[in-house]
Amino acid sequence: MSRKPIIAGNWKMNLLKSQAKDVFEGVKSFCDQYSAKELPTVVIAPTFTSLSVVDTVKCDCGCGGNKISIACQNCHWENSGAYTGEISVEMAKDAGCSYVIIGHSERRQYFSETDEMINKKAKAILAGGLIPIICCGETLEQRESGVTDSHISSQIKNALSGISSEDVAKSVIAYEPIWAIGTGKTCDSDEANRVIGMIRNTVKEVAGSSAADSIRILYGGSVKPNTIAEQMSKSDIDGALVGGASLKADSFNEIIANTMKVASGV
Ligand code: PEP
Repeated sequence: MSRKPIIAGNWKMNLLKSQAKDVFEGVKSFCDQYSAKELPTVVIAPTFTSLSVVDTVKCDCGCGGNKISIACQNCHWENSGAYTGEISVEMAKDAGCSYVIIGHSERRQYFSETDEMINKKAKAILAGGLIPIICCGETLEQRESGVTDSHISSQIKNALSGISSEDVAKSVIAYEPIWAIGTGKTCDSDEANRVIGMIRNTVKEVAGSSAADSIRILYGGSVKPNTIAEQMSKSDIDGALVGGASLKADSFNEIIANTMKVASGV
């Protein structure tokens, strides 16, 4: 089964509006040299304050849309109400988003997000017609004590609980070993591929083979222009969630270019 690769940039709490516009325009001019068919699915997740800025940088290639999809980095599962500091799925959509990152380890660690909250968010995002990018991953202590697979498979089962196979098939999962995020230490690509294969088997258990074959599962954790080709050459890795290297157009564009090279067999 051939799945279209995804390269997603997570800007986290970085870039003021003018800087966001510059980086987004830099990625857009690179992407404009290629057809949507040649490109991977390119996603950028700016801060809430820059969503409106990047949404105004529309594609002028005649495709009627934008070759860069926009994501937000979080949302609430309720439609509206007294939830100070949160935004709803409808608001994310209204701001031009088609993807929402949920369950990032930083949100789990610093904002006490639980699997149950992530499941509610995933359901609300899918019900609103957007696509969740569901993050999972183990700490160094969990890896060293041999519970990586059981921990991740439980995160995935909880996140996908009660979601139809059709909706699971559309979703995206990002495997991000926490010890590799922002540390410069990438997970060995064979090991990342093994864990992602295990995640795919877990998806098969809960949603069937067709959903497991269709769902795109990304690797995240210190992905750089010089690591992506090897990562993308692995059978189960469908793309990358990129933090630090997505903050500069040059490095993000190089990651996209190297992904295209692997996809086209160059
Ligand atoms: C991330 O934030 O999801 C991430 C993978 O960050 P970095 O690429 O900087 O490790």
